[in-house]
Amino acid sequence: MEPLEEFLAKVPRAQLLPGPTPLHPMARFCVQPGVQPLIKRDDMTGIGPGGNKIRSLEFLLGQAMAEGCDCVLAAGPEQSNLCTLTAAACARLGLACELVHNSNRPEQARGNLLLNRLLGVRSHFLGPVSGEERNAWMEELSEQYRQQGRRPFVVRNGASTGCGALGYAAAAVELQKQCREMGISPLTLFAPGGNGGVAAGLVYGNALLGSPFRIVVVSVEDEASVLEAHMETVIRQAEAITGLPCPAPVHQLCTITDQYRGGGWGINTPDSAEMVAAFARMEGIFIENVYTSKVLVGMEDWVRTGKATGAVCYLHTGGFGSLFSQYEE
Ligand SMILES: *Cc1c(COP(=O)(O)O)cnc(C)c1O
Repeated sequence: MEPLEEFLAKVPRAQLLPGPTPLHPMARFCVQPGVQPLIKRDDMTGIGPGGNKIRSLEFLLGQAMAEGCDCVLAAGPEQSNLCTLTAAACARLGLACELVHNSNRPEQARGNLLLNRLLGVRSHFLGPVSGEERNAWMEELSEQYRQQGRRPFVVRNGASTGCGALGYAAAAVELQKQCREMGISPLTLFAPGGNGGVAAGLVYGNALLGSPFRIVVVSVEDEASVLEAHMETVIRQAEAITGLPCPAPVHQLCTITDQYRGGGWGINTPDSAEMVAAFARMEGIFIENVYTSKVLVGMEDWVRTGKATGAVCYLHTGGFGSLFSQYEE
């Protein structure tokens, strides 16, 4: 067993995924001579609407339960996938959950907000304050609960922490096994970069496994240098938890592109807006506007221009719940 697998086998982990997520060929997207397009279905993680955050929550909530927490707090914009997936995971684990949003309480709950309501969590709407103010409010709430003798656990930075990133180090192990079984090698993997937790975990895991994959990180939000710095920070945190040093700096372990992010988080480019419908019509699989569509635009461009050939894999990180709020009538 690799040292990474040995470590992952002994660290606290809440069992949330029902098993490995499917890795399967795409039917029509990026199908061309010399290219074998695949999709890794991390939209199918078995809890709530599904998505990458479930992998992170296995380790974060594992830690929470090991610490004997009695209540989980998470914060985000109202359509936050992290918030909904945290609420769903807490339901599964029998933990109380409260969500903090920096928006007004809407008259009609749509998308992820509807799911949060069905999940029965307590939601705090702070009005249109900044993300920093929202997070500070959550920390104060946590402190209040602590003083009342409760044991709250705070999910910080959208789960993009060293502990959360272990979920994607574990995903690298899972994907390596699947590729071996399916006789796929080498493989270029296209992954999203928001806060950088997914990308950091994948890059770190891949490096510890001897780099079986070539990884292309498509930034959906920040300049490449900013995302790279976030990833380095998360990897340092992960190293401190595992004791396993990352063998090289991020820029030697992956390619980060910020060419497809347009105006940044939550702002469509013309190509990404089109991709949401195009991909559904080609594969019968739904993506959304904030993250997953931009990764696919990047992947298609790389394949079309010959920058990636052979086995190419799209990591679908979910976000299905938010799709229902991204279109008016
Ligand atoms: C949160 C999220 C991401 C990005 O994850 P980071 O770790 O913040 O980079 C990608 N896709 C979806 C659907 C997400 O909800």
